[in-house]
Amino acid sequence: MIACPCRVCTSTDTKDKRLRSSILVESHTTRIVVDTTPDFRYQMLRSEVKKLDAVLFTHPHKDHIAGLDDIRAYNYFQKQPMKVYANELTQNALKKEFSYIFSEFKYPGIPDIELLDIKGEPFLIGDIPVIPFNVWHLKMPVLGFRFGNFTYITDANKIDDAEKEIIKGSKAIVLNALRHEKHISHFNLQEAVELVQELKIPQAYFTHISHQLGKHQDIMPLLPPGIELAYDKQELIFS
Ligand SMILES: [Zn+2]
Ligand SMILES: [Zn+2]
Ligand SMILES: [Zn+2]
Repeated sequence: MIACPCRVCTSTDTKDKRLRSSILVESHTTRIVVDTTPDFRYQMLRSEVKKLDAVLFTHPHKDHIAGLDDIRAYNYFQKQPMKVYANELTQNALKKEFSYIFSEFKYPGIPDIELLDIKGEPFLIGDIPVIPFNVWHLKMPVLGFRFGNFTYITDANKIDDAEKEIIKGSKAIVLNALRHEKHISHFNLQEAVELVQELKIPQAYFTHISHQLGKHQDIMPLLPPGIELAYDKQELIFS
């Protein structure tokens, strides 16, 4: 957090250096980013992502959409619009927050996107199967995504039973766990642990971590087997 003198923000452990939450999902042929955070440009430079096929959005909060302008580098090199998948709530926010992208008379060099609607049915991006489902971020519906055996959920504090059935059977989950104290719209650490255990998912990685949670090395020993804190640039490989 900017200007914060706390132990986490001043830590020299690279696992305590957290940019805003996002993931890259890739198969042999296809590469998708989930959310374009305010750190999107640096995240793509840092991981040397030379090609990107699509963006999936979870919800319209600024820490998940602010980096969209920087997809224009991919427009330039790939010479085609970027496929952007979002629900109606997020589409409306994108049209407002990035009005210039949708204007009738476009300034040269601005992002070129093909907006695609996520309605609730599963779909394919290249060879990657995507099952979207709703979770609750206080009263805002947020999209979670299941890609084969892997499920990604950020910014949620409640999941309905029908959606739990979609998640069950995943081999791994990335799930938000903000801090120790209860929060109005995010799972805290205990709630996240309980959900993973309820859903019986063998491997879990917690994301969207606040500096209030504590240092990576202090929290890891407190977690049950199979549950870890995620960290920036972590890679998970599924066969
Ligand atoms: Zn801090
Ligand atoms: Zn949010
Ligand atoms: Zn967020």
